[in-house]
Amino acid sequence: MQSEAAKRITSFNPPLRTLMGPGPSDVPQRVLDAMARPTIGHLDPAFVGMMEELKILLRYAFQTENDLTFPVSAPGSVGMETCFVNLLEPGDKAIVCVNGVFGNRMVENVKRCGATPIIIQDAWGTPVDANKVEAALKANPGVKVLAFVHAETSTGVQSDAKTLAALARQYGALSIVDAVTSLGGSPLKVDEWGLDAVYSGSQKCLSCTPGLSPVTFSARAVEAVKNRKTPCQSWFMDLNLVLGYWSAAKRTYHHTAPINALYGLHESLVLLQEEGLENSWARHQRNHEKLRDGLEKIGISFLVDEPYRLPQLNAVKIPEGVDDAATRSRLLNEYNLEIGAGLGDLAGKVWRIGLMGYASREENVSQCLAVLSAVITR
Ligand SMILES: *Cc1c(COP(=O)(O)O)cnc(C)c1O
Repeated sequence: MQSEAAKRITSFNPPLRTLMGPGPSDVPQRVLDAMARPTIGHLDPAFVGMMEELKILLRYAFQTENDLTFPVSAPGSVGMETCFVNLLEPGDKAIVCVNGVFGNRMVENVKRCGATPIIIQDAWGTPVDANKVEAALKANPGVKVLAFVHAETSTGVQSDAKTLAALARQYGALSIVDAVTSLGGSPLKVDEWGLDAVYSGSQKCLSCTPGLSPVTFSARAVEAVKNRKTPCQSWFMDLNLVLGYWSAAKRTYHHTAPINALYGLHESLVLLQEEGLENSWARHQRNHEKLRDGLEKIGISFLVDEPYRLPQLNAVKIPEGVDDAATRSRLLNEYNLEIGAGLGDLAGKVWRIGLMGYASREENVSQCLAVLSAVITR
């Protein structure tokens, strides 16, 4: 039996939008074209060769020589969970820095691993306070993990990953770092900064479609995974099992890789390599400054103090008397422009304007400024 509603459905054709929210961001045609190439088997030698290239390209993006560097076949949230379920065992303690939505999710992850979170709170819109982190490390000897968000997409704040990771090492803890929004958009140096378990996402500053989570693990982190006393509670995310799938030498069936999605990630990383990582960071900064100058001219100010602002995620205060939801829906419906709403306590108070990856372009900055000033002054 087919319902009348089902019979009326035909192919889906999405509207053409400019994506200037907290992700996904604009995907260049080259990446979409790559994804439309023929599907081949995931154990096909040609595909295995592509996977090897992907690992090399990801090491460049992460600035690491970590052997265990690959894309988890799932969105950034699963990259997050992969780090926690592999490094934490029941009874472990983890210090978690919370200064926005994603820090809170880390706390949930720690609890569900049967571990105890030690929470360090900082106000939304401010970075993680390294002094509080050091005090917590001192007060809690034997802490296994220090977890923090490098680029808090919910508030537009960046924290000092280098200093925090150094503290973790000094006190014998492993760092778990959320780099979902920083990878490709602002400086992230996994080896130089000594980060241990880092996860990201395909749809933010890498300009790919959503659904993949690049991760990288230091030798110390891999050692900790291998020395677990209890098996990882997740079968799918257990790195001891996934390792065989992503290693060209061992290559055995674990799950079916999202083949065409990985073509897309490969292409987006080729684009990053062609541009050059440092050039990409500089482009994100340049376009952020253009947007900032333009916004200040029309009386819109930033939530975050200058030194901690993320160039790829601009959290700005909604001007007094301007209707948040009505404005955003006008931008979307009349101008095909998507910007992000505020979350939690910041709902209705801020907009989050993303300039991530391919969306970080001069024409997007100009379009956003023109449309915003037209809509606000009307
Ligand atoms: C987007 C985001 C995530 C989650 O990624 P999904 O792909 O939506 O699962 C995690 N952390 C941060 C900082 C993010 O911006």
